[in-house]
Amino acid sequence: MKTSMRTIVALPGEGIGPEVVDATCELLMGTGLPLKILTPPQGSPLPEATKRAAREADGVLFGAAGPSTSLVVAWLRWEMAAWAGVRPIRFFPGMRSPLADPDGIDYVLLRENSEGLYPGREGELAEIVRLLPNLSDRTGKTLKDFGTEGRFAVKVVTPRGAQRIARFACDLARRRQQRGKPGKITLVTKSNVLPRTDGLYDEIVGQVVREAGLPFEHFHVDDAARRLVRFPKAMDVVLCMNLYGDILSDLGAETAGGLGLAPSGNFGDGWAYFESVHGSAPDIAGKGIANPTATILSAALMLEHMGMSAEAQRLEAAVGHIYRDGKVLTPDQGGTARTRASCGCARSASRAATSPTCCRPARPTSW
Ligand code: NAD
Repeated sequence: MKTSMRTIVALPGEGIGPEVVDATCELLMGTGLPLKILTPPQGSPLPEATKRAAREADGVLFGAAGPSTSLVVAWLRWEMAAWAGVRPIRFFPGMRSPLADPDGIDYVLLRENSEGLYPGREGELAEIVRLLPNLSDRTGKTLKDFGTEGRFAVKVVTPRGAQRIARFACDLARRRQQRGKPGKITLVTKSNVLPRTDGLYDEIVGQVVREAGLPFEHFHVDDAARRLVRFPKAMDVVLCMNLYGDILSDLGAETAGGLGLAPSGNFGDGWAYFESVHGSAPDIAGKGIANPTATILSAALMLEHMGMSAEAQRLEAAVGHIYRDGKVLTPDQGGTARTRASCGCARSASRAATSPTCCRPARPTSW
């Protein structure tokens, strides 16, 4: 059966974002899949026409945000309410893990993307002291005891937010069970210090997972950090509150081999976009040496979401081949290859796994 043409909107962001997105788009076009890639103008904030194109597209691939494109990711993630951040942590043999025995690391870190301290509600301490002078911590110290010089940040959690991410985690765990994984959910909070806010997640997530009949465990974030290093293979679906997920996904990525390897898919109600976990990496931007793997694997998650599962699997298999082969690796993985060479190699590996139907010039369709 012939697959119909799908449209992807590619937004590069800044720093290494354009380098890894361009290379991944070349790779996608080179596979011969029926994909039309649009690269509408980015701007910060995003132009309305670009937002419309992204909303109408079958897939949205983002590069990386930096200081001048933070409004792009703010739209993709917060304004469009992509509340579930799916961040697979998976070791492919040949990746440069710092662990002695990383073979078999394969879990998903699920980050609640929309609550907690993000995207940042801050102010002057004097303002909140005026409003809530007697708000006290668990030792009885009130806000006014801090004086008025300083700043504050507000953490918000809701039962609705906790319930929907818990249900999402259960769906994910059940899908993993079908692939022979344990289907276990590990909840990460800091409810020993924040029994009301983080404690609400303990209560609600615990209840939803127990009702779903899935294996469940809970760790405080400090203990969880240690466990992700010491026992990563015991993890299956690690559900983290927003800030903890942000931090632990970099840690998890590093156990598999590095930040240049970690993809993500971000899902909301009727909305999804895909991006690497890493940022704009100003220290290596413009040098042509950024590892495109995280973006390629994000593109694989995007293809999966677009209903192209077999194609997504072939792309992942191509990445596996590159690392097993070990000949075309970027410097972060101990090689000397450049971003484009690494993507070119993935394209060849992916083509070898698909029918060689297309040799079109590897250029995304312009807006
Ligand atoms: P970063 O993720 O950009 O880089 C951290 C380190 O990892 C750097 O040494 C970098 O060279 C390395 N690295 C990252 N991606 C790599 C790749 N593909 N290949 C090889 N090495 C790679 O984090 P940072 O330096 O703390 O932040 C830089 C900017 O990115 C900041 O403005 C930050 O806010 C932003 N940021 C954006 C996102 C996002 O777009 N979702 C995520 C994290 C950080």
